[in-house]
Amino acid sequence: MDKNKKNDNQCPLCSAPLNPIEQTPSGKRLQRCSAGSWNKDTRQAEGCTYVRWPDFEPQPLEEKCPKCGANLVMTTVRSGKKLKKCSTGGWDREERKATGCDYIEWFKGSKEELDEVCPKCSSKLLLVTTSTGKKMKKCSAGGWDRATRQATGCTYVQWLTTGQPPVSNGDENFPDHE
Ligand SMILES: [Zn+2]
Ligand SMILES: [Zn+2]
Ligand SMILES: [Zn+2]
Repeated sequence: MDKNKKNDNQCPLCSAPLNPIEQTPSGKRLQRCSAGSWNKDTRQAEGCTYVRWPDFEPQPLEEKCPKCGANLVMTTVRSGKKLKKCSTGGWDREERKATGCDYIEWFKGSKEELDEVCPKCSSKLLLVTTSTGKKMKKCSAGGWDRATRQATGCTYVQWLTTGQPPVSNGDENFPDHE
């Protein structure tokens, strides 16, 4: 047994294996401890109450912090918005104050030109990432008129699914990425 290998699929509270990632009706992903369950009748958790929110765990980025040069991480807040923060920054729960580097930058979304053309009008497609991390393909000939609050030009939009593919029924063997 390699003690240094962190078992990602083990409950830190009771060491039971974690259940596969499930999705809430609002689209957020969570992972519960297999020793716990949710009683729909009493609306209370039974057994182990550990819940992990994979989407809220910081993802390391290639970018460097402009303040201190450490790596940035991308993290998601409960409202679903993403922000970039410095990996050396933290929160001291006892002192109730920020520690380390306090650099943060709200992620406002990005646009990227694709090598694909719009099936409606043959203009270039753009890959748009929204501030909540959702991705869509959108026609570059389309726009938004703020005054009339109406879409202008080509209205072609294709939403792309993000994150991990939905857990397939019956297959609970997650690929172990070494
Ligand atoms: Zn547990
Ligand atoms: Zn920093
Ligand atoms: Zn178009």
